[in-house]
Amino acid sequence: MPLRVYSTLTRDKKNFTEATGKKPGDTVAMYVCGPTVYKPSHIGHMVGPVIFDTVKRYLAYLGYNVKWVVNITDVDDKLIAQAEKLNTTVPELSARMTEDYFACLKSLNVTGIDTFPRATQHIGGMVDVINALIKKDYAYEVDDGVYFDVSKDDDYGKLSNRDPEQMESGTRMEPNAKKRNPGDFALWKSKPGEPKEVQFDSPFKCGRGRPGWHIECTCMAIALLGQTLDIHGGGLDLQFPHHENELAQSESWTGKAFAHVWMHNGLLKLKDKDGNEAKMAGSLGNVLNVADALKHVSGDALRFFMLKTHYRTPIDLGIWDWNNPGTPVPNGLVEAAESLQTFYRFFERFERITGASFFALDKSMLTNFGLDDPIQNEIKSLRTRFFEYMDDDFNTGGAVGVLYELISALNRFADQKRLEDPATGSREKTTLHVGTTVFRELSAVLGLFKSAPAKKSLDNGDELVSGLMQLLLDLRENLRTTAKGAVKDNPLKKPLFDQTDLIRKRLGELGVTLEDRPGGTTWRVG
Ligand SMILES: [Zn+2]
Repeated sequence: MPLRVYSTLTRDKKNFTEATGKKPGDTVAMYVCGPTVYKPSHIGHMVGPVIFDTVKRYLAYLGYNVKWVVNITDVDDKLIAQAEKLNTTVPELSARMTEDYFACLKSLNVTGIDTFPRATQHIGGMVDVINALIKKDYAYEVDDGVYFDVSKDDDYGKLSNRDPEQMESGTRMEPNAKKRNPGDFALWKSKPGEPKEVQFDSPFKCGRGRPGWHIECTCMAIALLGQTLDIHGGGLDLQFPHHENELAQSESWTGKAFAHVWMHNGLLKLKDKDGNEAKMAGSLGNVLNVADALKHVSGDALRFFMLKTHYRTPIDLGIWDWNNPGTPVPNGLVEAAESLQTFYRFFERFERITGASFFALDKSMLTNFGLDDPIQNEIKSLRTRFFEYMDDDFNTGGAVGVLYELISALNRFADQKRLEDPATGSREKTTLHVGTTVFRELSAVLGLFKSAPAKKSLDNGDELVSGLMQLLLDLRENLRTTAKGAVKDNPLKKPLFDQTDLIRKRLGELGVTLEDRPGGTTWRVG
């Protein structure tokens, strides 16, 4: 099945090659709206980057060359207000918050963004586009700015499917008595009282000022990727008015389609401790910054959480009692982190059996893939299903489900073949190696499990801890052997087994889990 992608503009799924005219080997131009860098990034800011990073990874897997641009809005009302509040300058604050954004992307393994244009680097281009729109009579000047005239654009509203009346009543409009229509939006704003570092020269009657938010994206997207993008992405909340306005001004200027495919990702949703829907908002004190979330869950857990549902649906954080220090993150994130343990336990088991680290596996083992035996056939069919999900509008939720099935198949195989037993033949171990390499190939498409999780404070690598644990395990093994060897009615048999259980229980209370396997007992933290 070829890749099919849903576009918000046409409201249906189309064959990607038919929608874009691009086939594997071609370059795909992808633009995703980036942040206004005035506060540290919260977890909601990472949803789009994680999703479109995965879109790029899959397109690259299929053989496309993806050029991905994410803009940085470094001049904006919110940024100016925040800089004033913090008694700093807009360039200083925006530079610092851009670094924070980059660090967050790195933590979530978002590595695919090729270019991050800053709005302030493209002011000249924006002035040119605004001039062209004035000349074409799509824009008009007033004494404090330049506005786009929505009534001149016949198909204005086609992306968000709204008629002008709905737009006027339903959304925050920029108030200005001099506008011709309530829905007209600013392309250029002149506010003489603003700091000089956010005022730029212009040929317009209003003089020095700064661009509107929407024109920034139009200008930077077209400057870096051409007049028609293959994919334009962003959060569902940007569909109107931001994307509608980007589209209107771009197409009015170029006379060409602005994007072949418009992709909108769903947003985070949250409930308070009483189970009522809640917003994540500064006024409620429940904005979860990425840096704070990472103190409690890993970057992999955050990424996994964002990919385990289909990207067009809301992502459910679950319940969060955010005023309670005992619940520093929503339960949806805690559950995502716990789910990952299934995978990490398997990686450890794989290493015990084969001596190889999951995190060092490369594709070379895949040359052995394809033998006609039951487990390889099962792996093959799961791999096919993984790609069927990804071909169906990047259904990462379905693809994550296949990863679980694959781990469960590999664990079952290891159990049945008693792979921990040193006497087991190497052929079965090679099969496990191949199947695990397939798992690594698929999880890499989702950008997951790039490196081993950080160990908690009780570190298996600590020599003394390892030595003491081994001593404890040896003593427990002696107790078990004696208990097993004792005749059925020996009164000591049960107390001996009770002692081994007590050791397991007490270690469990300390966060240490024991696993009894045919080759011996192992331990892990968590
Ligand atoms: Zn944008």
